[in-house]
Amino acid sequence: MNKIEINKINLIWEKVIKEIESHIINTKIYEDCFKTSKVYDFNNNTIYVLVKTIFAKSVLMNDYHDIIVNELKKYLSFDVKINCILNEEKKIIKISEGESLVSTPSINYNETSLIDTFTLDNFVVGDFNRDAYTAVCAVVDKIGKIYNPLFIYGGTGLGKTHLMMALGNQIVKKYPDKKVKYIESDLFARQVFNSLSKGGNFIESLKDEYNTYDLFLIDDIQYLVNKEKTNEIFFSIFNNLVRNNKQIVITSDKSPELLDGFEQRMISRFNSGLTLKIIKPDEESLKKIILQKIGQQDVDYVFDDEAINELVKYYNDDLRMLLGMINRINFHAIQSLPPNAIITAEFVKKYVANQNIIAPKLNVINPKAIINSICKWYGVKEEFVVGKTRIQEISNVRHICMYILREKYNMCFKEIGTYFSNRDHTTVMSAVEKITKQIDKDDDLKKYINEILLKN
Ligand code: ADP
Ligand code: MG
Repeated sequence: MNKIEINKINLIWEKVIKEIESHIINTKIYEDCFKTSKVYDFNNNTIYVLVKTIFAKSVLMNDYHDIIVNELKKYLSFDVKINCILNEEKKIIKISEGESLVSTPSINYNETSLIDTFTLDNFVVGDFNRDAYTAVCAVVDKIGKIYNPLFIYGGTGLGKTHLMMALGNQIVKKYPDKKVKYIESDLFARQVFNSLSKGGNFIESLKDEYNTYDLFLIDDIQYLVNKEKTNEIFFSIFNNLVRNNKQIVITSDKSPELLDGFEQRMISRFNSGLTLKIIKPDEESLKKIILQKIGQQDVDYVFDDEAINELVKYYNDDLRMLLGMINRINFHAIQSLPPNAIITAEFVKKYVANQNIIAPKLNVINPKAIINSICKWYGVKEEFVVGKTRIQEISNVRHICMYILREKYNMCFKEIGTYFSNRDHTTVMSAVEKITKQIDKDDDLKKYINEILLKN
């Protein structure tokens, strides 16, 4: 951990928000979200920023997240994370001197911590996320009685947090009596740590508090890896909730079986409900998401179709970056265009050229080359693997190829089938499922697959 005192971080934060002020045209956003923000704590390379409203939290964590982190990097020599907290969340953040602010064992963690602008209505659904969306809708109808836990995974910026919060908001709306809790797993780990270091009944009251929730949403569970004690507490809360038909939804950047550093019993519990993956959005869905986001903003500008087509070129796996860029283009438009003007592709092109933003190279997947290299690794002939033979050794390699095309390259089941003598998408699905189970039991396979997944 970096031993940088809070005062120094505070000074840096002030400089950073001054710098950001010059990018913000809308003075109200600056006043409401930035000017009133303060550094509350610095721990584990994370700066905890105290903000006044949920809106401010959303602006800092979504719209300005990347700008803030980039500005901070100018002053700090390590990778820094930011986390915005509201006043009511303060109680659970440990202050730097090691003194916990938790003052009484009967502390109430009652706040849902949901951002209410993430809804199911403004969540764009396409083939890339339909399964996850459908499962969430089923949970809304049959909360606690279906898919418990619901485990949703996928890379960053693919909408996991949005969907999870949208579920929480929908449940609050539909069943006002239900108690909902959303938490990021690193914050949960801190709560556990604080309660344990306080000793006495604190940890029991924390568990009791969690056991009262009807819907427990835990985001980015990968941050709990190798946190043994936290996992134990989580496991106990998890079992208790499931036993009482309370709903749990988990998100992660990896599938359960690839989450190294969790006990096996935990991984099997994660997989005991329904596990679904969100993949990269297709171009049409991406455009819908962009239009949706632009529509939510309070601006007078319309992006024409060509401008949207231009924007899509800058999508590089993480929607958050693209949306941040669109916000900056908006602000730039406020400065340089008359009200009600139309933002054209030319305007976008000029902006990105001025900012030296380069469109990412299209990530062209070459499934044949991938299949070829896997076959070579296993020393089997590619023509057999893509062919019809049912020799077990060959079909096993075939299934591994299918798994990798799905997990690493996010290809859809149907398309994968076309590379293997036009096999049906259900065949591909069961192959992926089979390998998923096999990874659990076979450490060598797990290692091999993890290596491939890491390689670019
Ligand atoms: P993740 O949690 O997977 O990293 P987020 O949920 O934070 O991703 O999404 C990043 C941004 O993209 C958010 O602003 C979110 O609202 C937006 N977003 C992602 N997927 C969708 C979608 N399907 N529809 C509308 N907005 C989306
Ligand atoms: Mg997220």
